[in-house]
Amino acid sequence: MDTMKKINYQEQPVEEYVIREEPYYVPVKDEVEIFTAAYENNLPVNLKGPTGCGKTRFMEYMAYKLECPLITIACHEDLTASDLIGRFLIKGESTEWNDGPLTKAVRNGAICYLDEFVEARMDTRVVIHPLTDDRRVMPIDKLGIILHAPPEFMLTISYNPGYQSVLKDLKQSTRQRFVAIDFDYPPADIEYEIVAHESGIDMEDARTLVEIGQKIRNFKQHGLEEGVSTRLLIYAGMLMRSGIEQKEACRAAMIKPITDDHELQKSIDEIISAIV
Ligand code: ADP
Repeated sequence: MDTMKKINYQEQPVEEYVIREEPYYVPVKDEVEIFTAAYENNLPVNLKGPTGCGKTRFMEYMAYKLECPLITIACHEDLTASDLIGRFLIKGESTEWNDGPLTKAVRNGAICYLDEFVEARMDTRVVIHPLTDDRRVMPIDKLGIILHAPPEFMLTISYNPGYQSVLKDLKQSTRQRFVAIDFDYPPADIEYEIVAHESGIDMEDARTLVEIGQKIRNFKQHGLEEGVSTRLLIYAGMLMRSGIEQKEACRAAMIKPITDDHELQKSIDEIISAIV
């Protein structure tokens, strides 16, 4: 305990994580209501869906609506438990404890969003378990303390069920700790509104991009790993707004990013040529 007394702890404010302006988000189903109910009941939430379909934007929108800071962590295979919890740093003569982002969220009653949670290693993933049951605690062994999460704290993860690999799957012992909300590409009438809004192109062009996007998504049954995301449709719109011709914009932002297979690219290109 003697060494504990010498540890400096820096208060780390979360002001920078407060979202001050309302993010643009168009609700698709009942995701806002379900998320709000989960928050009110201190339940953790798993946002399931393909990449680029609005999960992160939704989180920003909900954090704004619930007036809660949002701490986002992009998970990857080198992410360690210490990266989440915190570590000692030597500062000159003294040792200073630095909260990791998860600890910071627990201490300050923020929403913690672990994006692409399955990308984290198994031993890192289990760190969240005590926070996801009704104890809502976070043991910090290195400090010899247990933090109790305040009611404002919420744990959320995102998960793409499309990648079917044993390593990239969530174990039942983890997945059954979360309320799950399904996300998918928005229906056409909402998606073109989003594409027009985010890229600044007119409705007519946005409608064409969405039509092409939907056709490309049908290629999923023909070997395409994942359909073209709303994010990529927006990129195509942005290229167009900067003067790139529509067909070229679609090639650069919607075909080439999603597959390296030249045959598949050619087939998709033919679809675009038939529409544009
Ligand atoms: P994900 O986190 O699922 O990978 P994002 O939240 O980053 O995807 O979504 C990509 C982009 O698509 C966002 O930046 C936003 O511009 C747009 N978007 C997708 N769905 C919506 C929606 N329902 N309302 C507003 N924008 C959306």
